[in-house]
Amino acid sequence: MFIKDLIRTIPDYPKPGIMFRDITTLIKDPKGFNYVITEFSRRYSDMKIDKVVGIESRGFIIGAPVANSLGVGFVPVRKRGKLPAKTHSCEYQLEYGFDHVEVHVDAISTKERILLIDDLIATGGTAEAACSLINQCGGEIVECAFVIDLPELGGKKRLESKCLSVFTIVEFAGH
Ligand code: AMP
Repeated sequence: MFIKDLIRTIPDYPKPGIMFRDITTLIKDPKGFNYVITEFSRRYSDMKIDKVVGIESRGFIIGAPVANSLGVGFVPVRKRGKLPAKTHSCEYQLEYGFDHVEVHVDAISTKERILLIDDLIATGGTAEAACSLINQCGGEIVECAFVIDLPELGGKKRLESKCLSVFTIVEFAGH
């Protein structure tokens, strides 16, 4: 698939052993960028989505145009301390230590149907924390969508084991 060829792989970034899947080469290509946004927009056009939630920061680049194309609002999930108003917060585990993601408490209303978007799912820890924030707001997660899946890291299975539906466009082997 041409989308896969547009994603650049940078070995040993940001640290040895990681194969960084870089979407900047995909989004600078108008056909590639349009393909991804159209693929998501078509899939969700009949699913009665109320809001798209994107995870900082590459989830904003993909999520915001999808929200606009669906005619719904966009909600950012950000790293701790970046959102100015009252937030819900969720801690999640990294390889070494912990991190936090946050969402404004008034960003999502009870029973709103939410599409979660990020560029890539690896272990699924970030997406699971974002889902917890959506649940804290009372939202209903329709699906979690990613451009890239790294199946060997188990994130998709992890979300599916929590009864969350997951959709991805391309897969890469390895880390
Ligand atoms: P995880 O919580 O392990 O699923 O990691 C997903 C988050 O980390 C996403 O926001 C990705 O943008 C980023 N990420 C993790 N692994 C990679 C990778 N190999 N290449 C690019 N981004 C990655």
